[in-house]
Amino acid sequence: NNHNLFAALRAAFPTQLDATAIETDDGQYYTWRDLDRGTAMIANLLASLDLPEGARVAVQTEKSVEALMLYLATLRAGYVYLPLNTAYQQSELDYFIGNAEPSVVVCTGKNFGWVSKLAFKAGTKHVFTLNEDRTGTLLERASHHSDEHEIAVKGEDDLAAILYTSGTTGRSKGAMLTHGNMRSNALTLKSYWDWRPGDVLVHALPIFHVHGLFVAVHGALINGSKMLWCARFDPKRVMELLPRATVFMGVPTLYVRLLGEAGFGRETCRHMRLFISGSAPLLLETFNEFRERTGHTILERYGMSETVMLTSNPCKPEDGERLGGTVGKPLPGVEVRVVDDKGLRCPVGEIGNVEVRGPNVFKGYWRMPEKTKEEFTPDGWFKTGDVGRFDAKGYLTIVGRSKDLIISGGYNVYPAEIEGYINEMPGVAESAVIGVPHPDFGEAVVAVVVPKPGATPDGEAIIAQLKRQIANFKVPKRVFVQPELPRNTMGKVQKNLLRQAHQDLFK
Ligand code: ATP
Ligand code: MG
Repeated sequence: NNHNLFAALRAAFPTQLDATAIETDDGQYYTWRDLDRGTAMIANLLASLDLPEGARVAVQTEKSVEALMLYLATLRAGYVYLPLNTAYQQSELDYFIGNAEPSVVVCTGKNFGWVSKLAFKAGTKHVFTLNEDRTGTLLERASHHSDEHEIAVKGEDDLAAILYTSGTTGRSKGAMLTHGNMRSNALTLKSYWDWRPGDVLVHALPIFHVHGLFVAVHGALINGSKMLWCARFDPKRVMELLPRATVFMGVPTLYVRLLGEAGFGRETCRHMRLFISGSAPLLLETFNEFRERTGHTILERYGMSETVMLTSNPCKPEDGERLGGTVGKPLPGVEVRVVDDKGLRCPVGEIGNVEVRGPNVFKGYWRMPEKTKEEFTPDGWFKTGDVGRFDAKGYLTIVGRSKDLIISGGYNVYPAEIEGYINEMPGVAESAVIGVPHPDFGEAVVAVVVPKPGATPDGEAIIAQLKRQIANFKVPKRVFVQPELPRNTMGKVQKNLLRQAHQDLFK
């Protein structure tokens, strides 16, 4: 009985192997047979390298179907896949490659010079190249191998991937995910999101992150569904594809950009079944505007690199309503609790730390046994580092991260609460509330506000308005208006950068 995730994905391929599996925006068509043969050839190449058990295959390439095949081939051959953000530069790659000690590194031809140097320094034996235009040594070498390959036998607990976290709150950690973690999550989502025959996914996310690689790719493949593949997100291109699709997944900024297109509306979405959002909080305003413009209610879900998906708003009507501003209910088989600092469960409505347990929860942080131990409770719950509350119907709302929690004059201040009030004010597009060092209060609340196009919100007026709405200790001492918030590639607001920028404000 083989627990290799690839075996589950392969078993879901349609019997009609000549049907199209992936259509790219540069006009390439890949059949299911192409995926099967391509992954077999790359898996055979990997197998021919005599890699040790558990060898890591680290990959930093542009998004392409061949890069996707490399991921699938790594699973197929039984090695551990390690995707790296395409934005990472030398010092970052030096850390990841030094930390992970991969046996194989695959990079673009353009970066081969410096990447191979780092890799050889870390003891990597094989460095291949793979370019967006399907050239490079990886495919050249693979083309000499057989297109038949027997899927490597793996146990549920065997490592399938090491996924480095986004590094929003500090240095990225390598989350060790097993075949069992990912398979259970893929099957749960298949049924909870009601994937059905004929579904077609528009894939416009990067494939070095849990959202695009695991949620989106596994979702389509384990349902035998076709993907319309975009090498990068372009709202106009996505609008052209949506009429031929049924499912779309995006981070909140992608939804904002779609809504920024004048022609985006009901007509574009007429055949769509499901829009899914995650990776960062979806503003209620975006949720509402999307519903007005398209008639579709975005399904928001919550997850992380360490756990794949944890909670989701309902898809099927019998599972309940989709509520904006919440991340829905724990997925079937996943346990989620909100606890206070003593580890006791919080009553409904009260804010506390989010902890989780389930077959989807990772094996620990790569080469960080101490950190791993700290992040699990003695009874086996993983501390997500997120702060949230349950409502009476069992829906979870994420109000922020424990690292972003502000303690001002001894009082807890939850940034999301204040951001909620500020975002409602006229002329405000969005905001970020942070704590900065203050000689009297320990930390002082500070807000950074982004205006709506053409608007000029006034910081003093915002402070005056908040004073009428919330307790004084929560009201920002200063409000800065600036054109945008710093975001990383996954659309997450980098509050650490905002804190750094304002750290001397009260000194
Ligand atoms: P790091 O752990 O390195 O600081 P990160 O936590 O941003 O980075 P990821 O694993 O990519 O790295 O992101 C998981 C986090 O994203 C969650 O812990 C949560 O804070 C946030 N997140 C994901 N989905 C949602 C959502 N729907 N609403 C609010 N936050 C979300
Ligand atoms: Mg994290």
